[in-house]
Amino acid sequence: MNCHNHRENPAIAIATCRVCSVGLCDSCGIPVEKGFVCSDACRSRSEAINKMLDSQEASFRGHFNWFFMPALLVVIGVLLVGERALFGTPVNTVKVIMGIVLLVVGFAYVFYVIYIKRNFRP
Ligand SMILES: [Zn+2]
Ligand SMILES: [Zn+2]
Repeated sequence: MNCHNHRENPAIAIATCRVCSVGLCDSCGIPVEKGFVCSDACRSRSEAINKMLDSQEASFRGHFNWFFMPALLVVIGVLLVGERALFGTPVNTVKVIMGIVLLVVGFAYVFYVIYIKRNFRP
């Protein structure tokens, strides 16, 4: 591939613009965070792409944190409530009540998180 800037005087492209994929030679490529771009317009596009990728990653991590706590509460609640069915131990009213409380809190938390995410999208 040749550099798109010098079609009449071909220069071998050593890189491609990471936004519009044109060939770039040694002297035309503008180095950016993750590669090269061909112009200032593509530089700002490239920065926008980076920002978008970063925020996707951040929101994925955010989801994991938001749901981890309630999931843990629900798991412990199920273990406490279902202790007799799961392990054959005698019913312990205090544990069952604690388990129910944990289940209720866990599910309330999940619904609360879903509600917040739905109503306050950035
Ligand atoms: Zn470009
Ligand atoms: Zn060039």
